[in-house]
Amino acid sequence: MSTATYPETWDLDVFFKGGSESEELKQHLHTYGEKIEVFAKKVEQFQTPASSDSSYLVYQHIQEAKGIMMGVFQAGAFASCLEAQDMNDTGAGVIRGKVTAMGAEFSSAFQAFQQKLSKTEDQVWDELLKDDGLKEYTFIMTEWREAAKDKLSEAEEGLISALGVDGYHGWGQMYNALVSEMSVEIEVDGEVKTLSVGQANNLRSHEDPKVREDVHQKLEAAWSKNENLFAQTLNHLGGYRLAMYKKRGWDDFMKEPLEYNRMKPETLDAMWGAISKSKDAFVKFLDHKAKLLGLEKMSWAHIGAPLSESVKKLSYDEGAAFILKHFKKFGPEMAAFAEKAFEDGWIEAEDRAGKRPGGFCTGFPLSEQSRIFMTYSGSMSNVATLAHELGHAFHTYALRPMDPLNRRYAMNVAETASTFAEMIVSDAAVKEADTKDEQAALLEDKVSRSIAFFMNIHSRFIFEQRFYEERKEGFVTAKRLNELTTEAQNEAYAGAVTDNEPHFWASKLHFHITGVPFYNFPYTFGYLFSLSVYARALEEGQAYEEKYMALLRDTAVMTTEDLAMKHLGEDITTEAFWMKGIELCIQDAEEFVRLTSE
Ligand SMILES: [Zn+2]
Repeated sequence: MSTATYPETWDLDVFFKGGSESEELKQHLHTYGEKIEVFAKKVEQFQTPASSDSSYLVYQHIQEAKGIMMGVFQAGAFASCLEAQDMNDTGAGVIRGKVTAMGAEFSSAFQAFQQKLSKTEDQVWDELLKDDGLKEYTFIMTEWREAAKDKLSEAEEGLISALGVDGYHGWGQMYNALVSEMSVEIEVDGEVKTLSVGQANNLRSHEDPKVREDVHQKLEAAWSKNENLFAQTLNHLGGYRLAMYKKRGWDDFMKEPLEYNRMKPETLDAMWGAISKSKDAFVKFLDHKAKLLGLEKMSWAHIGAPLSESVKKLSYDEGAAFILKHFKKFGPEMAAFAEKAFEDGWIEAEDRAGKRPGGFCTGFPLSEQSRIFMTYSGSMSNVATLAHELGHAFHTYALRPMDPLNRRYAMNVAETASTFAEMIVSDAAVKEADTKDEQAALLEDKVSRSIAFFMNIHSRFIFEQRFYEERKEGFVTAKRLNELTTEAQNEAYAGAVTDNEPHFWASKLHFHITGVPFYNFPYTFGYLFSLSVYARALEEGQAYEEKYMALLRDTAVMTTEDLAMKHLGEDITTEAFWMKGIELCIQDAEEFVRLTSE
């Protein structure tokens, strides 16, 4: 028996010694600050290439930008780790501020470079791409050029960005400020507590049905009371985007989110089409869950209700051993990688006060290492989260042979490796469960994720599309937003839920994120895409690992349609492709109903 004890806290000193007071980090920030200044000056002097003689100069600029990007990411990743491990570390906030400012400065210089470069005439451009050094950037350089073509002049785009700080992002910040002022009073265990909306949301899975009912009603009432304020924030965010699209001559509001995710509209249609045709099994699941809860029909208050607690607890070492054992079945490289991550202090898992909730994985490009953050308290779902984050880290590892500029994948494929790794572990957990109750609890956890992706996120997508459509004609009132939400929920849940949450549009932060619009469908895409890859791995066994890693390497240098065709031989613009992944989820839902009906 091995008695290996893995460290439960991570090692950050290998990057910069001394935490938020690190002298090494100060020096690093100073060095990269200067590099950015130099780069910005060079960009000012840079002129659109008139002949292929400029190819070396272009190459040099790209290399310089790449180096800066890696340095800024390294510092940003360090700041994220510091902020997460101790929420009271004020020094971490100061570092974050500096890194954000540096990042903004760099990205405006880099964008100016991309725009100047993109104006290159067709013939010269083709010659540039034949250059030995530039060849490998063909995909991303073409993307820069296409993006620049669709935009207004440099000066106009500059003005849009400048006005956007207060006129656009400001509305997102206003939303956060308004939400942070809100609170609700909930009675838990005979004690009335004043909670933030985030804390109240966490009680949606409370075991006492009265608490869940109370939370549902109080939150709806709270959002309802402020609905006119949130109608302002949402309408101005949407209005700004639509005005910008109009000026650029874009008539389709899906253009930006689809291009950002490197996918075609047909692909999105096929995905939702397949999902819409597959609601039955999930409606039955919710009907059945309602019955198990003693309800006639499912209602919003109880969707998140726990059925039975999965009792099994695993120590951190046992959790790690469980992950390694099952990763090994899929391939030696992933297992060896994970073992090294456990051994070398890549993971911060300790259950202690002062840590930020949730989990993430971040890469340190200059060191070719990743760090994983989470809080491990011994549940099977903690083990799954740990596997999920290790999957992200493995994606970064698989990308190592690629040029750093060819490692930036979009949101929809970002969850491929993580969902894949999580699936290995959660499937194994169901199979190895000691009792039927345990097995049902684990399955319910899996199916609930399908409900989230196929129903909840579907309702968000339907709502957002219709909102944008109506926003074109003018301000959409709170009353109308409630109606649109209700309709979207009824459609997406296919009648499985008796009531509605009409103010969901106000309560969901994702509608107010200013980084990317339509922060919903990429989640569902990633989940189903990953399931298809997983299904393939089940078929092919250990030999699949090499192909799997080749797929991960290509995630940042091709469209999703090309990626699936090259590595899976699948046409993702057809519903048949999406059906395969959905089928696996239907099996889980049916198995759950069977197990709990006996
Ligand atoms: Zn993830």
